[in-house]
Amino acid sequence: MSKFWSPFVKDLVPYVPGEQPKLQKLVKLNTNENPYGPSPKAVAAMQAELGDSLRLYPDPNSDQLKQAVADYYGVQRAQVFVGNGSDEVLAHLFYGLFKQDQPILFPDITYSFYPVYCGLYGIAYENVPLRDDFSIDVAAYLKPNGGIIFANPNAPTGRLLALDEIRRLLQGNPDSVVVIDEAYIDFGGQSAISLVNDFPNLLVTQTLSKSRSLAGLRVGLAVGHADLIEALERVKNSFNSYPLDRLAIVGAAAAFADEDYFIETCSKVIASREQVTAELIKLGFNVLPSAANFIFATHPERDAAALAQGLREQGVIVRHFNSARIDQYLRISIGTPEQNQALLEALKPLV
Ligand code: PMP
Repeated sequence: MSKFWSPFVKDLVPYVPGEQPKLQKLVKLNTNENPYGPSPKAVAAMQAELGDSLRLYPDPNSDQLKQAVADYYGVQRAQVFVGNGSDEVLAHLFYGLFKQDQPILFPDITYSFYPVYCGLYGIAYENVPLRDDFSIDVAAYLKPNGGIIFANPNAPTGRLLALDEIRRLLQGNPDSVVVIDEAYIDFGGQSAISLVNDFPNLLVTQTLSKSRSLAGLRVGLAVGHADLIEALERVKNSFNSYPLDRLAIVGAAAAFADEDYFIETCSKVIASREQVTAELIKLGFNVLPSAANFIFATHPERDAAALAQGLREQGVIVRHFNSARIDQYLRISIGTPEQNQALLEALKPLV
């Protein structure tokens, strides 16, 4: 801290991202990246863009990408917002939509960046407890609020809220914005984007970091009513009018166009998730049902922090959160079959 800091910075509690280790030979199952590379067509599109055009600013509206997303989901281009990772999309929507008179609501266990944005912008919030089985209790959200947000599938639990439950939540909250953060939806859920034309207060965010294997490119998006998108555009244009660079625009658009590759890689991750779940259960773990590219598991007789440490000593890194209710769980990203095998072998002597 120094006397030059703005007063509000000293009270900021920033988000702590998962570790990005420098050692390449670690089996890295801690930040839910895709173990398979991005679409070769996306890589080729970016290679084709590398050259003289980088002299010029990119399209500030990223229209090529917005159009690709609009075509993919059957919505209008004006219903699509894109940003530098969904973290940036979330940052803009918290500022543009959630600064209301009443507190916003989100689960006590969900993406830990939400309270950070509230701290950054001075937004009041209330945590709504998940049920004992970590599912979302829609009835608990049927009360006055300044907005609602949760991840679906939820993070770090992997649990999915069904689309008809989301519809019930929306019907009960016509006067506040409901944001569904679908960072992991492609690994087993049905997107709520199909509901955006029925509910003008629904905004759905997604990322290309997970199912499209482009975490290093930093591209996220939101789909909703054009009036909600307009609020995000205003915030964006007051912050950084060129959030997506030329490579990101063409690479992300090409990734949306390569449906075969997307289906193939997602299917492999889903099949591995089911195998790893079955093997963890054989080792005595309780595993939550997951619709994501990670598993949330606890061992009734072993301390989770000690397990994470024991894995690390064998070169396997998973995520352990030192937070209330979940400190006996490990969040394990699904890797390649070889990485998953390495995880299971490393666990055997620990349980
Ligand atoms: N939402 C959730 C639920 C996440 O887990 C993540 C990844 N940490 C994000 C959003 C942000 O992803 P990105 O910024 O890479 O798009």
